[in-house]
Amino acid sequence: MTQQLKIGIVGLGLIGGSIEKRLALKSEQYELLCVSRSQGKEYSLEDLASTDIVFLCGEQSTIPGQLEEIAQIISKSGQEGSVDASERAFAKTIITDCASTKELISSRAHELGLENFIPGHPMAGTEKQGYEASFPELFEGAKWILANRNDKLEQVIAELGAQLVLLDPETHDRAVAVTSHLPLVLSIALANLSNSYSPSQSTRGPGYASMTRLAGGNAKLGREMISLNRANIKDSWQVFKDEVDALLNIYGEELEAEIAMTASQ
Ligand code: NAP
Repeated sequence: MTQQLKIGIVGLGLIGGSIEKRLALKSEQYELLCVSRSQGKEYSLEDLASTDIVFLCGEQSTIPGQLEEIAQIISKSGQEGSVDASERAFAKTIITDCASTKELISSRAHELGLENFIPGHPMAGTEKQGYEASFPELFEGAKWILANRNDKLEQVIAELGAQLVLLDPETHDRAVAVTSHLPLVLSIALANLSNSYSPSQSTRGPGYASMTRLAGGNAKLGREMISLNRANIKDSWQVFKDEVDALLNIYGEELEAEIAMTASQ
């Protein structure tokens, strides 16, 4: 029988709650220690010092502060008596996060000397938020990006139903700017444009609903993603604009040529 893993989950929103609900289905394999303000869970970061894995699942802006707190707990445990390095707080813990951008958080972990930190990002979600919206199947079939490999973490990701993808933080942030963050910006911009510029709201059909679905998601998380990855989003926006101009020209020229050909027959 495999040894039970002690898992810390910090922040029980859509992502953290879904991790908790899925792993709770296998309580003989996973002991869960959750830190949550809204769900009244009694644990603190200090209580997670002897876990195997900690998932930081809060809003992106809260994670650097939590990493700093963990670094302080480690440093304090080193000062308290002659504790061997291997017995210090978090010495055997893999710390990972779920935030949607990776560069800022990973460089903060690096600056703090947190060698056991593995940046992560589950490519799963809904437009809802909070513990009530979380469900155990959220990660089923989804990709889960990690910057480095680790056996125990990979075991838990597989348990959650997700598939591992290895990607460094810089490449990750450039990639999600195109696949996730620019689509969000465009969705918000389109909704704003429709409100302010469209001469008739009654022309909104299913295409408009699909294109603006992202704009109706978790506004705070959206603002954080756009803010933290804005340089990459701006780069992809320049290329996107060129692509739109090229498409308009190609379609325009093709249609003109077709009309000219029909007229000459
Ligand atoms: P969420 O449902 O809004 O939950 C966020 C949780 O963060 C809250 O439930 C709360 O947990 C905690 N929190 C909020 N304010 C805090 C504060 N000031 N200090 C400490 N904790 C605070 O958001 P989510 O969708 O689960 O997203 C969580 C993380 O996953 C984010 O970093 C996001 O970028 C990332 N992510 C989201 C998605 C998505 O589609 N939603 C997909 C992939 C990754 P407690 O009330 O339990 O303390």
